Amino acid sequence: MPERIVIVGAGLGGARAALSLRERGFAGEITLIGDETHAPYDRPPLSKQALLDEPDPRLIAPLEALAQADITHIGGVRVDSIDRAQRCVILNNGISKRYDKLLLATGARPRMLPGLRRSERLLTLRTHDDAVAIRERLTPGARMIVIGGGFIGLELAATARWRGLAVTVIEGLPRLMARAVPAEIAAVMEARHREEGVEILLESAVAAVREKDDEIHVELQDGSVVAGEFAVVGIGAIPNDELAAQTGLLVDNGIAVDRFMRTSDPDIYAVGDCCSFPAAIFGDRRIRLESWRSAQDQGTLVAGNMLGGRKPFVDVPWSWSDQYDLTLQVAGLATTTTKSVRRDLGDGAFILFHLEDEGRIVAASGIGIGNAVGRDIRLAEMLIAAQAKPSMAALGSSNIKLKSLLAA
Ligand SMILES: Cc1cc2nc3c(=O)[nH]c(=O)nc-3n(C[C@H](O)[C@H](O)[C@H](O)COP(=O)(O)OP(=O)(O)OC[C@H]3O[C@@H](n4cnc5c(N)ncnc54)[C@H](O)[C@@H]3O)c2cc1C
Repeated sequence: MPERIVIVGAGLGGARAALSLRERGFAGEITLIGDETHAPYDRPPLSKQALLDEPDPRLIAPLEALAQADITHIGGVRVDSIDRAQRCVILNNGISKRYDKLLLATGARPRMLPGLRRSERLLTLRTHDDAVAIRERLTPGARMIVIGGGFIGLELAATARWRGLAVTVIEGLPRLMARAVPAEIAAVMEARHREEGVEILLESAVAAVREKDDEIHVELQDGSVVAGEFAVVGIGAIPNDELAAQTGLLVDNGIAVDRFMRTSDPDIYAVGDCCSFPAAIFGDRRIRLESWRSAQDQGTLVAGNMLGGRKPFVDVPWSWSDQYDLTLQVAGLATTTTKSVRRDLGDGAFILFHLEDEGRIVAASGIGIGNAVGRDIRLAEMLIAAQAKPSMAALGSSNIKLKSLLAA
């Protein structure tokens, strides 16, 4: 049994793992090191409520709870390197911390436009402090430019419209959320954004960004210019895998782990946005997720494995996005599919099931007001996990209960 466990990254995956170690009865030393100064908090509200009426971060574990669980939280400090021979991590304040087992839960950081840097007018959104900087600029009547039509950019657009800003979304591809959801669902969301007054520029590549007096100008490749008081870049995230790479661990679109979340060093594990893992239900295809639930579940699971367990991570990927009063949800991996069938749920809500050639259901995505699609997506997740091959007719018919397909 290990005596000292060090966790790098005090976000969702790291905090969850620390708490879970104690819940499992681990009595040794747990050190949770994070470069942010706040206690571990949830990121999903940052593009939503945190910009409206939640000034404080929504904590996963307050500092008192960590102390009560005898978890040493070291905040505001970066781990600069890992010495695998000495089994220790070296912090940017010069201190080193020894480990028997090490967990990397370093998350991801926003991708920036090539050749540009963040500034007071060119922002990104990953941390609570980023959200505070954006919130300060959300004054009614201001013009916000969102570069990138993915989940975070669009959530931000919806929130800013609520606050009365003029919003322009610039997207390079022919449609919104192209990496995340099928066209039919993106179309519903696009229509809603336009109805709410968001200007959406598709197939529009950014050529240059210039800051001029108190404005920012985004020049597009067709020569047109979009002007605003500030712009937020939401063009994806890059896994924080440099620490692992520097110490010679295998990296492949993030820190490469096996089904047990173990890296190429058996004493070092990784979870959450920073790692890629073989997805058991998709023929061990290596994937990296940026999803709240995966980070949370991997954090819980890895705690058991660091204590000698051997439980594989087999969960079906699931994520959601809230924009206005609409929520979309995606389970499974929608991009691997060739056929889809639609099930209408009433009041405009619907689910698309995605099937592989031989009829296996591999993904489901849905959209509706509030949690309209929640229950059916949950059942779809179970169908995906069971590798079910229901008939397309049955999936498409709202008269046939999904539960009955699961039983079959
Ligand atoms: C604005 C926003 C909205 C989101 N909304 C949704 C949503 O609606 N639905 C959904 O499913 N998911 C959403 N997500 C994604 C979800 O929040 C992430 O998948 C989740 O936070 C990942 O957890 P993690 O522990 O892997 O990484 P993180 O929560 O990013 O934690 C990693 C921590 O490690 C720190 N760190 C990195 N390197 C070091 C180092 N060398 N030393 C010390 N500390 C280090 C980082 O600063 C960070 O604090 C959203 C994310 C963002 C940013």
